[in-house]
Amino acid sequence: MDWAAIRSTANWVNLSTPAGLLLAAAAGCRTEPFAGHVLVATSYRWRLPAAGAFTIGSVVFLRPRLGRPEKLPELMAHESTHATQYALCLGLPFLPLYFAAAGWSLARTGDPASRNVFERRAGLGLGGYLERPPRPVAPRIAAALRTLGAAGAALGSRTRRPR
Ligand SMILES: [Zn+2]
Repeated sequence: MDWAAIRSTANWVNLSTPAGLLLAAAAGCRTEPFAGHVLVATSYRWRLPAAGAFTIGSVVFLRPRLGRPEKLPELMAHESTHATQYALCLGLPFLPLYFAAAGWSLARTGDPASRNVFERRAGLGLGGYLERPPRPVAPRIAAALRTLGAAGAALGSRTRRPR
Protein backbone atom coordinates (compact mmCIF):
# COMPACT_ATOMS: atom_id res chain seq x y z
CA MET A 1 0.00 0.00 0.00
CA ASP A 2 1.48 3.37 -1.00
CA TRP A 3 1.40 6.51 1.12
CA ALA A 4 -1.58 8.01 -0.73
CA ALA A 5 -3.62 4.87 -0.02
CA ILE A 6 -2.57 4.92 3.65
CA ARG A 7 -3.58 8.59 3.86
CA SER A 8 -6.91 7.81 2.24
CA THR A 9 -7.60 4.93 4.64
CA ALA A 10 -6.56 7.05 7.64
CA ASN A 11 -8.95 9.85 6.64
CA TRP A 12 -11.83 7.38 6.24
CA VAL A 13 -11.12 5.84 9.65
CA ASN A 14 -10.68 9.20 11.40
CA LEU A 15 -14.02 10.27 9.84
CA SER A 16 -12.67 13.43 8.19
CA THR A 17 -13.38 12.11 4.68
CA PRO A 18 -16.95 11.06 5.61
CA ALA A 19 -17.39 14.59 7.06
CA GLY A 20 -16.13 16.05 3.77
CA LEU A 21 -18.52 13.88 1.78
CA LEU A 22 -21.42 14.95 4.01
CA LEU A 23 -20.56 18.60 3.34
CA ALA A 24 -20.27 17.88 -0.39
CA ALA A 25 -23.70 16.24 -0.39
CA ALA A 26 -25.25 19.06 1.65
CA ALA A 27 -23.75 21.68 -0.69
CA GLY A 28 -24.94 19.81 -3.78
CA CYS A 29 -21.44 19.13 -5.11
CA ARG A 30 -20.60 16.37 -7.54
CA THR A 31 -17.69 14.25 -6.28
CA GLU A 32 -15.22 12.37 -8.42
CA PRO A 33 -12.01 10.45 -7.78
CA PHE A 34 -8.70 12.17 -8.43
CA ALA A 35 -5.03 11.18 -8.31
CA GLY A 36 -3.56 10.23 -4.95
CA HIS A 37 -6.84 8.71 -3.69
CA VAL A 38 -8.22 12.22 -3.30
CA LEU A 39 -11.87 13.00 -4.03
CA VAL A 40 -12.79 16.26 -5.72
CA ALA A 41 -16.08 18.01 -4.96
CA THR A 42 -16.75 20.36 -7.86
CA SER A 43 -19.18 23.26 -8.12
CA TYR A 44 -18.93 24.28 -4.47
CA ARG A 45 -21.02 27.47 -4.24
CA TRP A 46 -21.62 28.17 -0.54
CA ARG A 47 -20.30 31.55 0.57
CA LEU A 48 -18.04 30.18 3.33
CA PRO A 49 -15.19 29.53 3.44
CA ALA A 50 -14.18 32.33 1.10
CA ALA A 51 -11.29 30.31 -0.38
CA GLY A 52 -11.47 29.14 -3.99
CA ALA A 53 -10.44 25.68 -2.84
CA PHE A 54 -10.32 23.92 0.51
CA THR A 55 -10.01 20.39 1.83
CA ILE A 56 -11.94 18.33 4.39
CA GLY A 57 -10.24 14.98 4.98
CA SER A 58 -9.37 13.67 1.53
CA VAL A 59 -12.14 15.68 -0.16
CA VAL A 60 -10.95 18.74 -2.09
CA PHE A 61 -13.64 21.34 -2.74
CA LEU A 62 -13.32 23.53 -5.82
CA ARG A 63 -15.38 26.56 -6.76
CA PRO A 64 -16.71 26.56 -10.34
CA ARG A 65 -14.56 29.54 -11.40
CA LEU A 66 -11.41 27.43 -10.92
CA GLY A 67 -12.38 24.93 -13.59
CA ARG A 68 -11.34 21.30 -13.83
CA PRO A 69 -8.98 19.80 -11.22
CA GLU A 70 -6.71 18.20 -13.84
CA LYS A 71 -5.95 21.74 -15.09
CA LEU A 72 -4.84 22.76 -11.59
CA PRO A 73 -1.86 20.51 -10.78
CA GLU A 74 -0.22 22.97 -8.39
CA LEU A 75 -3.39 23.72 -6.46
CA MET A 76 -4.28 20.01 -6.30
CA ALA A 77 -0.78 19.22 -4.98
CA HIS A 78 -1.30 21.92 -2.32
CA GLU A 79 -4.75 20.61 -1.33
CA SER A 80 -3.47 17.00 -1.30
CA THR A 81 -0.89 18.06 1.27
CA HIS A 82 -3.77 19.34 3.40
CA ALA A 83 -5.30 15.84 3.10
CA THR A 84 -2.01 14.48 4.47
CA GLN A 85 -2.18 17.02 7.29
CA TYR A 86 -5.66 15.75 8.22
CA ALA A 87 -4.24 12.22 8.44
CA LEU A 88 -1.32 13.39 10.59
CA CYS A 89 -3.69 15.35 12.88
CA LEU A 90 -5.93 12.24 13.24
CA GLY A 91 -8.74 13.89 11.31
CA LEU A 92 -10.92 16.78 12.35
CA PRO A 93 -8.53 18.04 15.09
CA PHE A 94 -6.78 19.49 12.02
CA LEU A 95 -9.46 22.23 11.88
CA PRO A 96 -8.91 23.94 15.28
CA LEU A 97 -5.15 23.58 14.80
CA TYR A 98 -5.46 25.12 11.33
CA PHE A 99 -7.58 28.03 12.59
CA ALA A 100 -5.13 28.68 15.44
CA ALA A 101 -2.29 28.75 12.90
CA ALA A 102 -4.32 31.07 10.66
CA GLY A 103 -4.98 33.39 13.62
CA TRP A 104 -1.29 33.45 14.47
CA SER A 105 -0.46 34.26 10.84
CA LEU A 106 -3.10 36.99 10.73
CA ALA A 107 -1.67 38.59 13.86
CA ARG A 108 1.90 38.38 12.57
CA THR A 109 1.39 39.37 8.94
CA GLY A 110 -2.19 40.60 8.44
CA ASP A 111 -2.76 37.54 6.26
CA PRO A 112 -4.06 34.12 7.37
CA ALA A 113 -1.63 32.09 5.23
CA SER A 114 1.84 33.67 5.26
CA ARG A 115 2.90 32.38 8.71
CA ASN A 116 0.37 29.55 8.91
CA VAL A 117 2.47 26.41 9.32
CA PHE A 118 -0.09 24.27 7.46
CA GLU A 119 -0.19 26.59 4.44
CA ARG A 120 3.59 26.96 4.42
CA ARG A 121 4.08 23.18 4.49
CA ALA A 122 1.52 22.78 1.68
CA GLY A 123 3.38 25.43 -0.35
CA LEU A 124 2.21 29.04 -0.33
CA GLY A 125 2.93 29.49 -4.03
CA LEU A 126 1.20 26.23 -4.99
CA GLY A 127 -1.88 27.41 -3.11
CA GLY A 128 -1.84 30.79 -4.86
CA TYR A 129 -0.75 32.70 -1.76
CA LEU A 130 1.69 35.58 -1.70
CA GLU A 131 4.04 35.57 1.27
CA ARG A 132 3.65 38.67 3.39
CA PRO A 133 6.49 39.65 5.73
CA PRO A 134 5.87 39.51 9.48
CA ARG A 135 4.99 42.84 11.02
CA PRO A 136 7.18 44.09 13.84
CA VAL A 137 5.73 43.04 17.20
CA ALA A 138 7.36 45.57 19.54
CA PRO A 139 5.50 48.67 18.23
CA ARG A 140 2.20 46.80 18.48
CA ILE A 141 2.89 45.81 22.10
CA ALA A 142 3.94 49.40 22.85
CA ALA A 143 0.71 50.70 21.27
CA ALA A 144 -1.36 48.24 23.34
CA LEU A 145 0.45 49.36 26.52
CA ARG A 146 -0.15 53.02 25.63
CA THR A 147 -3.85 52.28 25.16
CA LEU A 148 -3.96 50.49 28.51
CA GLY A 149 -1.97 53.34 30.11
CA ALA A 150 -4.34 55.95 28.68
CA ALA A 151 -7.33 53.97 29.93
CA GLY A 152 -5.69 53.70 33.34
CA ALA A 153 -4.92 57.44 33.41
CA ALA A 154 -8.50 58.27 32.41
CA LEU A 155 -9.79 56.00 35.17
CA GLY A 156 -7.32 57.58 37.64
CA SER A 157 -8.34 61.14 36.75
CA ARG A 158 -11.98 60.20 37.16
CA THR A 159 -11.44 58.70 40.59
CA ARG A 160 -9.28 61.67 41.71
CA ARG A 161 -11.70 64.30 40.46
CA PRO A 162 -12.95 66.38 43.39
CA ARG A 163 -16.66 66.14 44.05
ZN1 LIG B 1 -4.01 25.63 1.67
